[in-house]
Amino acid sequence: MKKTNLGSVLWNKCPKCRTGNLFVNESSFRIKGFTDFNHSCPHCEEDFLREPGFYFGASYVSYGLTVAIWVAVYVALITFNAIGLISYTFSENPWTFLIIGVVILLILLPAIYRLSRSLWISMFVKFKKS
Ligand SMILES: [Zn+2]
Repeated sequence: MKKTNLGSVLWNKCPKCRTGNLFVNESSFRIKGFTDFNHSCPHCEEDFLREPGFYFGASYVSYGLTVAIWVAVYVALITFNAIGLISYTFSENPWTFLIIGVVILLILLPAIYRLSRSLWISMFVKFKKS
């Protein structure tokens, strides 16, 4: 799975060789240093800091992922209400939706940060068989 394009994005691997790590720590949920980024690939030496401000575009990817999570939380609440697991309507209790959404986003923040950078660089760096 790690050697496919999707696998390299999901596992934060170098898009060129799909072997080296984009981040210093492999785990997204090791809170201290989850943003530490390798400046170049430890395996093929691809430059990950392509130009100043390159990762500004990753914020748009992050925004899209965040909106997708909000939609998923809303759909889950509506579905659980429809099948009778919970009694929920947005108009009566919007705070439930907001609190659940914020908690999920805070938990997933490191993963979203890393995934957005990984997706962004994979759009510009082509895979090269070595
Ligand atoms: Zn590499």
